[in-house]
Amino acid sequence: MIKSLLSRPVTKVADRVRFDGRVLFLACDPALVRRQLAGEDLPYDPARSPLQLRDNISTDEITPAYICYYFDETLGDFPYLGLKCGEEFPIERGSVKKGGFAVSVSGKRRGKGSSREQSPYAEMMAGIKLVIAENIERIYRENCQNLGVFTSTDFGLIARVRAGEEIPLSEFTKGEGGITRGIIEYGGLFNYNVARLQGKVEVPKVSTPKRAMTIAEKIFARHWVADAKAGTVGVPAVKPGDEGFVQTDIRFSHEYVTPMSAIFFEELVGKDEPVNDPSSVFFFRDHLTFLDQVMRPEHVQMGLLDVANQLEAKQRTFAAAKGIKLYGQLEKRLNLMGALASAGSEAICHSKILEAHALPGQIIIGSDSHTPHAGAVGCIAFGVGTTAIFNSWITKDVRVEVPKSFRVVVRGRKPENVTAKDFMLEILRHPYIKNGEAIGQIVEYAGEAVESLSVDERATMTNMAAEVGAFTGIIAPDEKTVEYLVAQRGMNAGAARRMCEGLFSDPGAEYVKVIEIDASALRPMIALPGDPGNGLHVEELERDVKVDIAYAGSCTAGKKEDMDMYARVFKEALARGEKVHPDVRCFIQCGSQEVFAYCREQGYDKVFADVGATFIEPSCGACINAGPGVSRTKEEVTISAINRNFPGRSGPGQLYLASPYTVAASAIAGRIVEWDAEAVGAAR
Ligand code: SF4
Repeated sequence: MIKSLLSRPVTKVADRVRFDGRVLFLACDPALVRRQLAGEDLPYDPARSPLQLRDNISTDEITPAYICYYFDETLGDFPYLGLKCGEEFPIERGSVKKGGFAVSVSGKRRGKGSSREQSPYAEMMAGIKLVIAENIERIYRENCQNLGVFTSTDFGLIARVRAGEEIPLSEFTKGEGGITRGIIEYGGLFNYNVARLQGKVEVPKVSTPKRAMTIAEKIFARHWVADAKAGTVGVPAVKPGDEGFVQTDIRFSHEYVTPMSAIFFEELVGKDEPVNDPSSVFFFRDHLTFLDQVMRPEHVQMGLLDVANQLEAKQRTFAAAKGIKLYGQLEKRLNLMGALASAGSEAICHSKILEAHALPGQIIIGSDSHTPHAGAVGCIAFGVGTTAIFNSWITKDVRVEVPKSFRVVVRGRKPENVTAKDFMLEILRHPYIKNGEAIGQIVEYAGEAVESLSVDERATMTNMAAEVGAFTGIIAPDEKTVEYLVAQRGMNAGAARRMCEGLFSDPGAEYVKVIEIDASALRPMIALPGDPGNGLHVEELERDVKVDIAYAGSCTAGKKEDMDMYARVFKEALARGEKVHPDVRCFIQCGSQEVFAYCREQGYDKVFADVGATFIEPSCGACINAGPGVSRTKEEVTISAINRNFPGRSGPGQLYLASPYTVAASAIAGRIVEWDAEAVGAAR
């Protein structure tokens, strides 16, 4: 608890709000947008002359990825820089701020895509105080609320704002649960939390009677903050829809998010104030370690590399000041050309959290959508935004509404060349997932085919709960988990077993859906470019797909067992006298230095070198379009073991997703093929 916050004056926002400023309509017609930026206020009379507003404005359009290298109020220069109106991008740096707008209006599904909080923050810093749209995506809306930006779907507000009317606050809180209402009334999550710590707000009490619970619900109940002031934690039971705060065991963030959270902390809490329990906070320098090798020259000229490097510096200095463990980047080394070059990260965040920190029954929050990775050992791990991370440094807890759960049961025995990645590509093409019904739910993986997987392979499944659109993914811990904790962490087996006690779903626990999959019927899969849900059996490909790049790495596919799979295929190739196809550039990238060292112990580094693959140090790299292995043209074809293949994810080319076996076999064949454990080499 940060004591100075207990005496900090905190007040609610006024119960009537006035929006002094202009209204910006994000119209489909770029000329209309430009006219507004030049000073014209467009008439708004939908009955007589409807204005065609842009639908589906993603957070990528509000703040393109390279804009997110900024992490302070400078972001206010950039909102909507990626907004595409027709074939044009009418908004330029600084033009929204200069225009004096207070309200931003668009059509359907405002704030789609990435959960980046830089988007509403950029809008807020440009002067936008109210966002109006036909409907607003959940995370974007929560991020707005956490920052104190109002949201509404009521277009009738436009005329009232323009008339200078004071709008009752209740118009923005109606229909919301108690906590969300409080956050809006206090002007954001931080003020709400200060009021909560001071006992000024009543968090609705959970009074769910004992019931059959899923493993996830049990973990929530154990961590439920019963009384923040008294410091009591734990309730007998929770059910979907219960709203409150849960105590976290681990909080982590990476260099894309930590600096902005740090700025919030320094400005709102105080530069010299301590972080609550810094020993359970971890920072990572993983996403942009190799950015200098691949950034486009025009972006370097714009100074973006310098800006991106500041992310690293800010995170490092904040970590040192607060006594927080940073898994940083390695010292630069001389490359073959005699120049200083990046040498990779200590670890990708998810890889290290699973290798070294996550324990069964814990609650872990991270600043990244693939935080569910750690659910492989039977904990609840989920991604949150910048403000939620910064608040957790104060309170150590995080706001949740218990999600509904659904179960995926993979029965039977899988063929040898089928992996957890193939399970996931199969699951992702299920209509329940493709239709978006799983969004925000918890996916619990079970069945003997899942139980037979190692913890590394289970992590591929929990990691890709992000692609499912789920709140998180979890697998009940078992004897395999105990073995992992003993081998990986040197834990005492008895202590590990005790940790797993009670961590199973009760008979009669509620699931909104159960999906059954027969593992023996599965075949190696690929996902066609564009979406991880575009799954297909490799054997169903109608034509040969020649490969230019094979990328074998990332948090999803840079674990020890992934390396075993690449090495197995490559050793077989070498035994047949084969190497990586001459037309293919093949990259192997580990998730952590520990995996890197493991490869050396196993002699895999030599195997990779002999087969003609480039073995690079750990980092997110090509997975986030920021390292060796990215495509350069839209014609280039990549076969990759990463988790998502949205357009532009790893360069402009065509990105196919596949398992480690399929990636390695395709690198040898020069075209997409499955690895055949029975008839090695037959695929070529
Ligand atoms: S490797 Fe890719 S998916 Fe994993 S944390 Fe890094 S950018 Fe995200």
